Amino acid sequence: MRAAIYNGPRSIEVGERPDPVVAAPTDAVVRVVLGCVCGSDLWYYRGETPHAVGSIGHEFIGVVEGIGTDVRGIAVGDLVIAPFKYCDGTCPHCRAGVTSQCVAGGAFGNGEIDGGQGEAVRVPLAGATLVPVPGSRHSDEMMRSFLALSDVMSTGHHAAVSAGVRSGSVVAVVGDGAVGLCAVLAAHRLGAARIIALSRHPARQEVARSFGATDIRAERGDAAIGAILELTDGVGVDAALECVGTGQSMATALGIARPGSVVGVVGVPHDIENPMETVIFRNIGLRGGVSPARAYIPELLDDVLDGRINPGRVFDFETDLDHIAEAYKAMDERRAIKSLIRIGAKEDGR
Ligand SMILES: [Zn+2]
Repeated sequence: MRAAIYNGPRSIEVGERPDPVVAAPTDAVVRVVLGCVCGSDLWYYRGETPHAVGSIGHEFIGVVEGIGTDVRGIAVGDLVIAPFKYCDGTCPHCRAGVTSQCVAGGAFGNGEIDGGQGEAVRVPLAGATLVPVPGSRHSDEMMRSFLALSDVMSTGHHAAVSAGVRSGSVVAVVGDGAVGLCAVLAAHRLGAARIIALSRHPARQEVARSFGATDIRAERGDAAIGAILELTDGVGVDAALECVGTGQSMATALGIARPGSVVGVVGVPHDIENPMETVIFRNIGLRGGVSPARAYIPELLDDVLDGRINPGRVFDFETDLDHIAEAYKAMDERRAIKSLIRIGAKEDGR
């Protein structure tokens, strides 16, 4: 089969990988329909985080082509959403809802395990991992939102849940990448009364507004902290959602969080100062980490199917597998919020 291959920094090419087969009784083979590029893929692309040479891409939806004898809950022909990590659903961490830390789990597209930026994927522990999508003949708009549940929307939701966003909360979202925008949507879905989005990019501001942002601020760093404290009468926000992972974005999130609040942290950390002084002397908590997407997808999927949320709006660039390098480039240059890759034909006759 054909798949994107990570060859090193700034080198993503389409190459050949072995056709996936059902190798274990708990495996499924999924033919990929839509894949996409993640903000975390950009860290590899830029050479700032190491990545093994080989498969890449961890977000995809597709159609089940084959299943092992021990796979329950999905059938050949099902349209399925893959969370970005596979899991067994039975270990203590899975049972506690932290499927992203499954003792038997792992990540798609890590160089060795098939990635979502390819024609097909062998999915380990498929019965516990894949979420079947009910119904048929879904619109393209809905297919894009299914794909967003694989990671970006589940991760934005995790930021909001981790920070304790609830009805009436005053929320600020640091980061206007696809995860930050989805965090706005998640906060809105959870009933936040006020959502301040930090963005200086008109196209991203527009998506943030359509997702429920009530205020947009273009300031950065100390100026952003000052602006948000002013908006909140010097109090700070009930929930700051940190969706970037840099030293500056974390400092901003900690600076605008009101005493007693929890900062929701989902950005991949790079060069962040130890926040313990803030944690202790300003009574601010930190919670988040790798989103347990598998645990969140069913409830988010219900809202997508009912038309209550449309997270697929974060995809503003699309191409096919042959032009995958262009999909990375567009995001690297910030021309695209998030790149969608059309890989296979939609559901066969369904
Ligand atoms: Zn587990």
